[in-house]
Amino acid sequence: MELTFIGGADGVTGSASLLTDTRLGLRALVDCGAHAERELMRPDGAPRLGFDARALSCVFLTHAHRDHCGRLPQLHRAGFRGPVYCTEATAAMTRIALMDAAKFSREYDADDVEMIDFQPLDRRADFNFGQPMRLHGVAVTFHRSAHILGAVALTIAWRSRTSTRRSICFSGDIGGNTPANPYQSLLAGQQTPGAVDYMVVESTRGAEPARPPRYKSAAGRETAWADVFADSDARGGGPVVVPCFAIHRAQELWFDLHRVLRHSAAGAPDAAGRPRWLSMDAPLAARMTEVYAELLTRRSEQGAQSPWRNPTLADRLGLADEAAVDRYLVELWARVGRNRAPGGTLRAMHDPELSRVVALAGSGMCEGGRIVDFITDQIGNPAATIVLCGYAPPETGAGRLRRLIAGDWPSDTPLVLGKARIDPTRIQARLVDLGDYYSGHGDIDALCRFVFEIDEPAPAATVFLNHGDSAMRAGLADALHARAAMKRPHDRPLADMVLPATGEQHDLDAADQNAQAIRARLRAQALASLRRAE
Ligand SMILES: [Zn+2]
Repeated sequence: MELTFIGGADGVTGSASLLTDTRLGLRALVDCGAHAERELMRPDGAPRLGFDARALSCVFLTHAHRDHCGRLPQLHRAGFRGPVYCTEATAAMTRIALMDAAKFSREYDADDVEMIDFQPLDRRADFNFGQPMRLHGVAVTFHRSAHILGAVALTIAWRSRTSTRRSICFSGDIGGNTPANPYQSLLAGQQTPGAVDYMVVESTRGAEPARPPRYKSAAGRETAWADVFADSDARGGGPVVVPCFAIHRAQELWFDLHRVLRHSAAGAPDAAGRPRWLSMDAPLAARMTEVYAELLTRRSEQGAQSPWRNPTLADRLGLADEAAVDRYLVELWARVGRNRAPGGTLRAMHDPELSRVVALAGSGMCEGGRIVDFITDQIGNPAATIVLCGYAPPETGAGRLRRLIAGDWPSDTPLVLGKARIDPTRIQARLVDLGDYYSGHGDIDALCRFVFEIDEPAPAATVFLNHGDSAMRAGLADALHARAAMKRPHDRPLADMVLPATGEQHDLDAADQNAQAIRARLRAQALASLRRAE
């Protein structure tokens, strides 16, 4: 079995790894992500993939973010007709995201997206998280990763050239919710992979400490929002504008904000009787929300609740049972389409009766969409508040706003948000960075749990760090080495740590051949010494 890092090895875009085993007849891609910036087209206009798409047996897809699924349509256009194995939620949201992207793409169209053969494995009768399924001569196991709805880490196991059982786990992106503390609202905690020989682990956030230290708590998050609203009211109760990503951030924010507004003074009418209300101007997020609504409330035939759903919701909401949570969520998501102001949110922001609006809008990167209209309209309004929630790449509009909040933006340099340019001296609105409360990527504790924590003794694993820039990968490598050196009694031992470059290949069966050669040499030496003794 050979592993090739096609993309995303040394950066946070275009995640794709190729597993090839000619003996087994397997040529599988794990993820097929889009590069954010790099040139994707060859001079003749054909998509650049780095391998022959027609020779692929299948794709394993970890989740619906575009840096993991964004080049599936190009793969179809280049001749790939095989199955894309994933979960039902990933299939549904990937199709929605790619259909939307097709409107702006010069490389593919809606037909390419329509023709992708998604095969949701969690619809199989024999599916269970943590249980292997046989596909294409290998055994494939899904582990919930708590990153977004439908996201999984996946383990692939095979018989090596020397007939030894070998396995590799691809982390995909790893979320912060754990079974012990599922602090973000919607999803159940991450699952860990157990005994494997190799791991490919994401390093988006490296070993950076999360901020603020109390962020891993629903109560801390609700207090942070209550403070934002109290401050907003003290400044006249203007609009609160919140950029959100279509998948997961929008649904988490809607859940939390609805709860804060319903259960605290923040949601009560002000002295003049003006209501505070919630609106979402993000058509793509609204469609993703329908998938969340369906899959977080759907019961199994045996009546079990959704395996994706945070099991602490009934407690947190003070509801009697899971059926009451079902009803709560259905009613909650139905409001996404109902909480609209006549004439639109922008007009409402200027209407004295309606201006206490909490406006969620896309895109989360502040590179285009309604959010840029809202921010440019309100940034000169001293009563307005603009709240950034969670990580955004530094080279995006949201990343620039975060730098400005941190005091790391020169006052004579215009702030670029998509096509808009904002003069920093014109800013009157309050800008708030809510930190890591909503990050979809777990911190170093969550990564260490995923890499090290095992229930039973396991062989030492070789860890490849991908999907992070060089500083993040180096930081994470140091942190993992430090944890391994502690030799905790129930930790997985590490055999080696590799920071691969794009294009790098690794023979995953070579270790067996080396071991076999060493055993043969030792046997020969033992025989020779026996003969000498005779
Ligand atoms: Zn992701």
